[in-house]
Amino acid sequence: MLLEIEDLNVHYGRIQALHGISLTVDEGEIVALIGANGAGKSTTMRAISGLRRASAGRILFGGDDITRMRADRRVVAGISQAPEGRGIFPGMTVLENLTMGAYTRKDKAAVAADQQRVFELFPRLAERRKQPGGTLSGGEQQMLAIGRALMSRPKLMLLDEPSMGLAPMLIRQIFDIILEIREQGTTILLVEQNAQQALSRADRAYVLETGAITRSGSGSDLLVDPAVRDAYLGVA
Ligand code: ATP
Repeated sequence: MLLEIEDLNVHYGRIQALHGISLTVDEGEIVALIGANGAGKSTTMRAISGLRRASAGRILFGGDDITRMRADRRVVAGISQAPEGRGIFPGMTVLENLTMGAYTRKDKAAVAADQQRVFELFPRLAERRKQPGGTLSGGEQQMLAIGRALMSRPKLMLLDEPSMGLAPMLIRQIFDIILEIREQGTTILLVEQNAQQALSRADRAYVLETGAITRSGSGSDLLVDPAVRDAYLGVA
């Protein structure tokens, strides 16, 4: 297992956002986390990347206990997060943003090669390499956030709402690119409001409800699960 979460609790002050969740992500998988607003999806991602402390439970990465590891050490260990709301540096150019994503790396030639790879995945970013990040369209900023997350050469990439605010055409494209990233050897855990796309593209998925996992299974099984269809796919 690349990632194992065991009985994880996370609190915000006195509010408990996660109630003993357990999940696993195997190397090479695409795993989706779906759930309603406020279910705890982003909190789970923050706990994995180290932006939020666990109040109980364990997080193992490649068999090592990282529960108490600092966020920047987790990046070095191979966990990279493309945050919800993009979180790019608006005053920096596309190229500078990508360079920032590789700040933990010293191998300049390989970093340049990876920049090239990001431009191949996202030709639109290549055309705009000198443009400030803040002047990109919403969809382009989303591409840049994913591209920047790739620049640390992660073993595990955490994607929070990759399809948020994108036109349907672009949503399909982003998911195609996610599949391609996996083909190139990166494991993916993603949070999605767009349950239809997420379940049809993911190997496995978990359903989160008010801080607890209520269902899990293959993407294709969950797609035809009546309870999931009713609650998350808008079909009764
Ligand atoms: P969405 O789909 O709306 O982004 P989510 O599933 O990602 O939702 P979280 O953002 O993880 O949900 O929030 C889980 C719960 O924790 C919610 O009840 C939320 O109000 C609460 N919460 C999140 N961040 C904080 C915070 N900084 N302080 C207090 N409560 C918080």
